[in-house]
Amino acid sequence: MKLFDSHCHLDDHVFEKDFDNVMQRAADAGVKAVMVVGVDLNSSEKAVKMAKSKEGFYASTGVHPHDTKSCSEDTVKHLMELADDPNVRAWGEIGLDFNRMYSSTDVQEKWFVRQLEIANSLELPVIFHERDSNGRLLEILKSYSNHRIKGVVHCFSGSRDELEEYLAIGLYIGITGILTIKKRGAYLRDIVKNIPVERILVETDAPYLTPAPEKNRTRRNEPAFVRSVLLKLAEVRKENPEVLAETIWDNTCRLYGV
Ligand SMILES: [Zn+2]
Ligand SMILES: [Zn+2]
Repeated sequence: MKLFDSHCHLDDHVFEKDFDNVMQRAADAGVKAVMVVGVDLNSSEKAVKMAKSKEGFYASTGVHPHDTKSCSEDTVKHLMELADDPNVRAWGEIGLDFNRMYSSTDVQEKWFVRQLEIANSLELPVIFHERDSNGRLLEILKSYSNHRIKGVVHCFSGSRDELEEYLAIGLYIGITGILTIKKRGAYLRDIVKNIPVERILVETDAPYLTPAPEKNRTRRNEPAFVRSVLLKLAEVRKENPEVLAETIWDNTCRLYGV
């Protein structure tokens, strides 16, 4: 089985101690490629550095909605320079998060729109982060897109209606370990059957969101566990895991231009 962890934060300090073991387990699980996602200038720099030095690693650059309060034109200028590197295959993660409110709604929206413009000008696909924006992210996307936006709604956890709208815009849908969690994943397991197979990506969002099968052993998520997401997805959709894995690999390569 060939797997692409389409969204993880391997630059996180929690991987420093045993990075080689983490990557060995990923290889053993069939993970042949990973997208290391930036959330601010520092993590974007680290992601690009990793992607430059390691086989099968790709990077994205961007400012997460949580971190927009410390974003400036200077920050995005630096990020654009970083994105010049051929290993950078996406812009993100960007979006709106009205759940935690680490940055105000105005500031989040300002930098979301600004970064959408940048991604468009650089012709990079976008990694979207959305949580509790109450339809606002979709509203912005629809008002903005006279052209189709290429991108993925990572860690999708929205409603059936939101799913339909994302699909109508042409976006990919990123599925995490939430799918495996008994109570929290019940609704997602129901609607994931409605996603056309050519629009699905799988991801870990490591070190966060450890899937249920691994949760008892370890709190920290890692790319190897994307296999559990894929297997649960195949089970729920009643599809052959090998075939599904191959389709999702192709989807991910198509989106990120790999
Ligand atoms: Zn996110
Ligand atoms: Zn993330």
